[in-house]
Amino acid sequence: MAHGFDRHDHRACVASALSAAEAACAGRGLALTPLRRRTLEILLESHAALGAYDVLARLEAEGFGSKPPVAYRALGFLVDNGFAHRIEGLSAYVACARPGSPHEPSFLVCRGCRRVAEEAIAAPLAPEAEAEGFAVERMVVEAQGLCSACRESGRGAAPC
Ligand SMILES: [Zn+2]
Ligand SMILES: [Zn+2]
Ligand SMILES: [Zn+2]
Repeated sequence: MAHGFDRHDHRACVASALSAAEAACAGRGLALTPLRRRTLEILLESHAALGAYDVLARLEAEGFGSKPPVAYRALGFLVDNGFAHRIEGLSAYVACARPGSPHEPSFLVCRGCRRVAEEAIAAPLAPEAEAEGFAVERMVVEAQGLCSACRESGRGAAPC
């Protein structure tokens, strides 16, 4: 199980994700520019998904520029190279929990706190697609719900 909702040593989590990204960039000849690296660090600060404008606000405060393409290009680089994922259901981004190894990510997405746990669940439709001769290029598995902390605190409860 990947970290997301459990208590864990998050500093180790951040350090290993950054070093995996550095190693992957060095190995593949990709430039991990200060902007791209900072964007990844911002995503890594917590396991909550961040919208592009949240990321842009942080980058702007740090002097990286205020135009949306600044954030979108950096996020695009991270997503294209497998260092981050887009969570379609939240229109937001999370850092990848296992960068460097090719994988089809599946996500548990908490609608209370926006935290995301990335799971290594085999794509459920793959055998059926293969049987039909369908070549799957992209599959997004996002389970939305409430994490145990949000359920206990009553956060995210349906309004009455
Ligand atoms: Zn962590
Ligand atoms: Zn991933
Ligand atoms: Zn939650």
